[in-house]
Amino acid sequence: MLPGPTLILACPKCSAPHRLATLESGNTFDAEMWSDGKMRAPMMPDQPEFTKCHACACFCWVKDMTRLGDQQPWEDNACRDPLSYDVIITEIWDDLEPVVERLARHFSCQSEAARSMIESLPITMAKDVSRNIAEAIEDEFEDLADVQLAPCRVSTEPAPSEWSDAPEVSFIDAEDYKCALNNGSARNVDEEIFLRIAAWQAGNDRFRDGEELWVPCSKRGSAVIASAERLLQLLDGGKDSNCVLGAELSRELERYDDAARWLDQERLEGATFEDAGEKEGLMVVARMIRELAEQRDSALVQISAA
Ligand SMILES: [Zn+2]
Repeated sequence: MLPGPTLILACPKCSAPHRLATLESGNTFDAEMWSDGKMRAPMMPDQPEFTKCHACACFCWVKDMTRLGDQQPWEDNACRDPLSYDVIITEIWDDLEPVVERLARHFSCQSEAARSMIESLPITMAKDVSRNIAEAIEDEFEDLADVQLAPCRVSTEPAPSEWSDAPEVSFIDAEDYKCALNNGSARNVDEEIFLRIAAWQAGNDRFRDGEELWVPCSKRGSAVIASAERLLQLLDGGKDSNCVLGAELSRELERYDDAARWLDQERLEGATFEDAGEKEGLMVVARMIRELAEQRDSALVQISAA
């Protein structure tokens, strides 16, 4: 496990600084996988994607926090993030036509003009833009080209000392996920699915280490059941590989026949998975969930030590 820089991120509402440790590389050695989809990997610790500000207690997506600077693992002091960037494409991989199309869209120009830009690399995509804008352009092109963010304006002020003592961006608990969902933190279906899965897994956390006896989701109150039912509805309209999560959630709700329906052979065989590895892994879990459902067993289980 290789640590990457610690990012200093500001709350989008009150600007209070937070620290977020990153990983240069990790692995799933000794990882625990659970039937609700949660993984705990000591060599690849999970990073919060959604959090609560330690200062103003507002909920926010980590992607919406502003990057103030970063601190390299071998340095004592943090550095300020450049104030702005130039975004430059220095090289295009093999596939030219999609780049032409995206350049034409990006610059609102004709394909011919985009083609001539490619002939005279590098291409300056944007000058003096914020990190968020620069990264959005990088995201748009990075599968097809080498995109570089060149610091444009750099602050000469030293980083404030309170950055070193700022609290970590932290995970929130099931109760907080419930509040966040109630106050409109999910702005689209994907965010809602993410938050409802996170709420479900956080609600299961107290049962993972055997400290508490299992309580099925169906016996945890009407709010938990309502959130689970809404998640089932969202999963049903989403990607095929959701069927395993749908089956597991139905099982934890003691709806064993529903669990079996989610894992219907025809449905599984017709499902599209990201790749053969994902399919193979999910098939193993699906078989296990089906067996547990047949035994009328709702309890969360650990799948394997990978
Ligand atoms: Zn705040």
